[in-house]
Amino acid sequence: MTDFSDRLAGNLVKLPPYLFARIDGLREEALAKGVDLIDVTVGDPDKPTFPAIIRSMKQALGKVENHQYPSYVGKLSFREAVADWYKTRFGVSLDPKSEVLTLIGSKEGIGHIPFAFLDPGDVSLVPDPAYPVYAAATIMAGGEPYSLPLEKKNGFLPDFDRVPGEIVKRAKLLFLNYPNNPTSATADMDFFDRVVDFASRTGVVVCHDNAYSETYFEAAPPPSFLEAEGAREVGVEFHSLSKIYNMTGWRIGFLVGNSSVISGLGAIKTNIDSGAFGAVQDAGIAALTGDQRPVERMRRLYKRRRNALCRGLRRIGLKLSRPKATFYVWCEVPKGYTSESFCIHLLEKAAVLCTPGHGFGTHGEGYVRFALTVDVPRLEEAVERIAAVL
Ligand SMILES: *Cc1c(COP(=O)(O)O)cnc(C)c1O
Repeated sequence: MTDFSDRLAGNLVKLPPYLFARIDGLREEALAKGVDLIDVTVGDPDKPTFPAIIRSMKQALGKVENHQYPSYVGKLSFREAVADWYKTRFGVSLDPKSEVLTLIGSKEGIGHIPFAFLDPGDVSLVPDPAYPVYAAATIMAGGEPYSLPLEKKNGFLPDFDRVPGEIVKRAKLLFLNYPNNPTSATADMDFFDRVVDFASRTGVVVCHDNAYSETYFEAAPPPSFLEAEGAREVGVEFHSLSKIYNMTGWRIGFLVGNSSVISGLGAIKTNIDSGAFGAVQDAGIAALTGDQRPVERMRRLYKRRRNALCRGLRRIGLKLSRPKATFYVWCEVPKGYTSESFCIHLLEKAAVLCTPGHGFGTHGEGYVRFALTVDVPRLEEAVERIAAVL
């Protein structure tokens, strides 16, 4: 068989090495040996999709209109449901026709948006550490990611004053994500006002990823970027039904905000995919417009897990800031370890697998990420096992 790996596109070869590959290998090895592994790497809700959503999906499958090619931009009924949800949740009015675009999961939109805005040599400003898709999609589209360090001393918010002038000139996109994966930091309106100010001065398109807007533990829920004055002039916000409704496998999300950015991404999508499955959009409508009490129950569940894990890790001497949102705990590694050596130590000695921070970017070094996607007794057991090997 011919090996075409040396013919791969240059932009694909340029992608940063997949730093989780080593961990994936170690996980497989441990599982093959029959180790009772506590795996806290997974950023995927462990509970099933809510029953009402599944019932609505079953009905939607019987509708003949859903058997044909869907609309590229999404059903108007889905986009209207999004606009209503957005108005209720954030107090922001959106035109469902021009300011809402249905996505096949938000990752699909994040992965495609650089193709709409970047030419060779153009720059995306990308937080570091971050969800790896922002930089990877930038590179695949021929652009260059420029890292915005997220540091503890700045509350894991980027400092725009540190971006050199010549980079700002070449920058076309700015990716942001609050509540943040992996640091679990949140942003307030004051920060979003500064983002609008930076974007209006520089002309970058703000792409705010709000995948965790509903996974919060404080009385005040996290804001939308579009609540900031002038935000719609300079950017868009990605949302996902994945984490809110335990629907990661269904692939449904949406983009809202600046209508010219929405048509830009829409033009890419018309040429690449044919829209989200109509029945999944119908189920999405049921999710957004239905009883939201199961969402509150999930928040309470994650909060109990957060409390158990944070209390436990602190008791055994690990340093972390207790997350106000997301289902991640971003924990400092003890002295003498790197992110990777600490992960491997915990895996080999305690059979606990967490994610090394440097897998999310060089500024993630010195941290590991725990996901709150396992039940409290297992988290407590993880803490006991870690305590025994520290
Ligand atoms: C999970 C996640 C997404 C992707 O969500 P989908 O809608 O399932 O594609 C996007 N951004 C961040 C930061 C995530 O953690």
